[in-house]
Amino acid sequence: MKIGVLAFQGDVEEHINMAERASELEDDVQKLSKAAQVEGLDALIIPGGESTTQGKLILKYGIDKAIEKNDNLAIFGTCAGAILISNRIIGYESQFSLKKMDIIIERNAFGRQVESFEAQLSIPVLGEEPFHAVFIRAPVIKKAGDNVKVLADVDNAVVLARQGKYLVSSFHPELTRDIRLHKYFFDMARGRV
Ligand code: GLN
Repeated sequence: MKIGVLAFQGDVEEHINMAERASELEDDVQKLSKAAQVEGLDALIIPGGESTTQGKLILKYGIDKAIEKNDNLAIFGTCAGAILISNRIIGYESQFSLKKMDIIIERNAFGRQVESFEAQLSIPVLGEEPFHAVFIRAPVIKKAGDNVKVLADVDNAVVLARQGKYLVSSFHPELTRDIRLHKYFFDMARGRV
């Protein structure tokens, strides 16, 4: 399987590292910043950072069009990456997004007082052991369509969701040692889960 990490911004090295640990021997893990690299790609990770800036770069380098051409592509958006996959961004309706998931998302939804925090999440699809999640100026999924599966929440705020081969997390799974979520995403891309 061909795995790419969008390398414009954010924890690119950390995602590469996690992807290498979570992938299988025959997989190929690469940083990606050109449209041509999306061709033949099976799984794409869009890291956190700043969604407006990353959105502009996605457009500038034609990554959006390349994604449209690749029907097979599974995408995992973390934090700003989640914003970039959503259908609608509350208060930023003109901001670019790929509109892959039927979710309405709110940026910086936990407010200024709690700019960043960590939580032990219960994520049943990953098993019993809680997942240590790091939130940094995190978005929240305010509304999810019928075909979206909510996989985790924090005090009723949805922070992990899946629709078909698309996965979004409000938090940064690349900042821990736990590779279970990356593994789950690759299993999604392989059609195993
Ligand atoms: N607050 C950022 C945004 O709205 C996302 C933060 C992050 O990716 N850590 O784009």
